[in-house]
Amino acid sequence: MARPRIAWLPGDGIGGEVLQATRLVLDESGFEANYIPGDIGWEFWKKEGTPLPDRTIELLRHTECAFFGAVTSMPNVDAMRELPEGLRAKGARYSSAVLRIRKMFDLYTCLRPCRAYPGNPGNMREGIDITIFRENTEGMYSGAEWDKIPLELYEVKGMERVPRQAAITIRAITRKASLRIARAAFDRAADTPRQGAASDPARTGICPEKRLVTAVHKANVMRATDGVFLSAAREVAGEHPDIGYEEMLVDTCAMQLVRDPLRFDIIVTTNMFGDILSDLCAQLVGGMGFAPSGNIGDKYAMFEPSHGSALDIAGKGIANPVAAILSARMMLEWLGDKDSAGRIGRAVADVIREGRVRTPDMGGKMGTMAMATAIAAKLKKGT
Ligand code: ATP
Repeated sequence: MARPRIAWLPGDGIGGEVLQATRLVLDESGFEANYIPGDIGWEFWKKEGTPLPDRTIELLRHTECAFFGAVTSMPNVDAMRELPEGLRAKGARYSSAVLRIRKMFDLYTCLRPCRAYPGNPGNMREGIDITIFRENTEGMYSGAEWDKIPLELYEVKGMERVPRQAAITIRAITRKASLRIARAAFDRAADTPRQGAASDPARTGICPEKRLVTAVHKANVMRATDGVFLSAAREVAGEHPDIGYEEMLVDTCAMQLVRDPLRFDIIVTTNMFGDILSDLCAQLVGGMGFAPSGNIGDKYAMFEPSHGSALDIAGKGIANPVAAILSARMMLEWLGDKDSAGRIGRAVADVIREGRVRTPDMGGKMGTMAMATAIAAKLKKGT
């Protein structure tokens, strides 16, 4: 395979720390690439009035995929306060760099696996293995929002129910985006066997040998938007009679994830529900330090740990790099280097199971680079 070009975007807070740790592991795995650093994050918002400079977008256009750390994001009022007067006068407005990249490159699948690695003291239960397919380009994160509702909107029937002083966000759900995220989830289910344990089949009726896709929604309240999502999910489920399919309200799902996480296998859902539920799932398997993610489109992809910049622990060298390292593993799989990806996965599993290296989120005292060094050492020994 020719050396892929990878846009390397550390960003803010612990982003740089976990990416440095990830490079150590990638280099030891034998995987070869050209890593091209790019500017992204809060520093560029303050200096240039955008957290995603045009030169970074150009860089993404000329690479096979991107690997990203984290960007600090703040509500609009706080972001504007941090902007120098000159840039404020030019009308700079903060918008999330990650959301822009997801939309610009049509990275419609946000893939978030949450696996309880055996021996992780943070596991709520052993055997949890839940993969979330979150629609990544629309829904509540459509970006169509107004602090003050434009008067023209009041000409639309139904708007009289909305108070004049309200701010609004548009929740846009299309059949096209719903179909493709459902297809991504069912394709994964069709291609791979179920990994995790299943809860008592006699009680739940869930067959442990069969894959199960759970479509999560709130169609009893948001009838129009989640109606579109559900009918797309049902259509794709109909094409896969061998895969189990169920539908669940988002609030019930949050409750069931805590009560009986083993009943879940693959969850497919809309953007904001997936964002929230994937943090919940991360906590079931040890917290944000164990939650990798991939933003995947048909032509481009960006991999990143699910956590943010975690300013509370940034600069201390104590962030757990496992989420970033597992995101790199996902990147190698996507690039087609399944061998290196598999070895990184086994090295991570071995280090967690042996329990000699524990970062503070696991109840230990060791740091980011100690964890990465232990994983790299396993690779060197030939895991
Ligand atoms: P942002 O504003 O950038 O989204 P945040 O701090 O609100 O960042 P997260 O970065 O997701 O959100 O962090 C949530 C909590 O989880 C924080 O208390 C943080 O210390 C902890 N955390 C996040 N990532 C890690 C990690 N890799 N290792 C250890 N703890 C982490």
